[in-house]
Amino acid sequence: MSRIGINRNKARLRGALGIRARLVLFALILVGPLMAERIRSLHHARAQQIAAASQEFAGIARHSADAQREVFASIEAVLKSSAYIYSSAAQVNRSCAIMRASLRSNMPWLRSLTVAGVDGIARCSTWPEVVDTQFNFSDRPYFKQAIATGEFTVSDYVFSRLSNLPTIMAAYLAPGETRADDAVILAAVNLDWMSKLMSNLGERPGVTALLVDHAGTVLAAPPNNADAIGRPMEDLSLLPLIAADLRNSQRQSGSLSFTADDGTPRAVSFAAIPGTSAQLIVSIDESRVSAIADHEIRNAYIQLAIACLFALLGALVVAERMIINPIRAISIMAKHFGRGDWSARLPRSSLPAEFVPLARAFYGMAAQLRGRERELRASNEQLTVLASVDMLSGLANRRGFQSRLDFEWLRAQQSGDDLALLMIDVDYFKMFNDSYGHPEGDACLARVGETLAQLADRVSGFAGRYGGEEFCLLLPATDTARGVQIGEMVRSEIWNLTVPHATSTHQRVTVSVGVAAAAPATLETVRDLLEAADAALYAAKRRGRNAVVEHGFVRSYDRAVSLSA
Ligand code: GH3
Ligand code: MG
Ligand code: MG
Repeated sequence: MSRIGINRNKARLRGALGIRARLVLFALILVGPLMAERIRSLHHARAQQIAAASQEFAGIARHSADAQREVFASIEAVLKSSAYIYSSAAQVNRSCAIMRASLRSNMPWLRSLTVAGVDGIARCSTWPEVVDTQFNFSDRPYFKQAIATGEFTVSDYVFSRLSNLPTIMAAYLAPGETRADDAVILAAVNLDWMSKLMSNLGERPGVTALLVDHAGTVLAAPPNNADAIGRPMEDLSLLPLIAADLRNSQRQSGSLSFTADDGTPRAVSFAAIPGTSAQLIVSIDESRVSAIADHEIRNAYIQLAIACLFALLGALVVAERMIINPIRAISIMAKHFGRGDWSARLPRSSLPAEFVPLARAFYGMAAQLRGRERELRASNEQLTVLASVDMLSGLANRRGFQSRLDFEWLRAQQSGDDLALLMIDVDYFKMFNDSYGHPEGDACLARVGETLAQLADRVSGFAGRYGGEEFCLLLPATDTARGVQIGEMVRSEIWNLTVPHATSTHQRVTVSVGVAAAAPATLETVRDLLEAADAALYAAKRRGRNAVVEHGFVRSYDRAVSLSA
């Protein structure tokens, strides 16, 4: 990128980072970390909340699993004692009666207790229909397994064809005297009771508790989830994870994090029911458990946005009121000073205290500038005067005379009066210089100027040195005749100075005078008047000098000269 381009970008960046932008950034730097810390602590609280809920429910799940285990332990005990009774009692009907009586009174978790032969035919049951219908258990896996292993066996979920109710079956082999006398004691577990044991797990929103068999079919659930009983659990993919965890940890319970099919993160606690393939699974929907925390976090984000917005607006307002406006007001005041309005002032209340010294500095500067301007004006006026005055004669110089001539010309134009102009030239002055020297020439010119000034005062005229040894006299409201009269006065007063001039034909310093007078309306420009007076002067020179000639005709004063001489 070229140097110019870089500089331009820098300038743009500087523009973007003006006072407003910097204040906004500053406000955000102040507010942002505070709000970020609040959000961080809310997230932390949320995680803690979920962890606490997981722990709480893991404990509840363990207690619940313990209760389930006790139920199965009691079922095992019942089956084993029933088997003992059966084996020792010769008469089936009697043991059957005892069995029925005990179950009804204190075994609410058992629906029925049945004694079946190894052929699968029920011989005795707390549920008489089983005996009557000659129901056959021989094809049931749990039945076969109990005979094969001789161990206490619990089935997976089964739907009882006889009771038309879901259940799980527990089976235990009761050995007879001969193999043919062997019997299997069967118990149908009351799943409602198992569900009742879990009821305390269903009270909290976002918590799902299920007792499932090893295939994932729901055996029991709290009342809020009763519909799930008998169906496969929703998140079947959880089962292999739990199985792996139990295998790895060599424990009967555990917990893990799991993402459900619907994408919700879940904390899962589980406990195996010993002696069975069943396990209790408590799954916590983190988003529902932490709903309050999530709500607070959402609010915190909104608060952050609002706080940032307020900080932004606040910074803009502060920048505008405290900095930009005072700077604008001071620059407007400076513009007034620039236009010469030195009295411009700002109302004190409109400025923040920090800007008052700056405004005062401006006032001081304005006062100093004002003083200097006055001095400058005065010296300018002096210069103007000096520029229009001839230092040798004390009369107006050509410039000063010209401006006075223009002014009087205008005045005469308005009044309609004549304006007379006398051009006066010292005769043979070159020779005067040659004879007496230049300083003496200067002194002579000074005397001529003095004489003209006095005369001008007397006749209300305006005298000037037109250049070199040439003078002029302006006579407002003066016609040609009066002009000639005054021209004669000029000539004679210089004559009467009797300044010696040995090389002049008149032996003294003399002047020639050209007179022109006219009303401005009769001429085209003021230049015509000047040229007319000059022409008359030229004529006076030709006339022999020491003469006064009016424009248009020549008048001789030789006689007068000779008379006065
Ligand atoms: P004429 O009668 O035709 O006017 O002759 P002149 O010699 O006066 O006229 P010219 O124009 O030939 O000479 C004018 C002289 O005036 C020449 C110059 O040396 C002299 N002069 C002009 N200004 C000054 C000045 O300020 N001081 C002095 N000492 N002499 C000046
Ligand atoms: Mg001359
Ligand atoms: Mg001359």
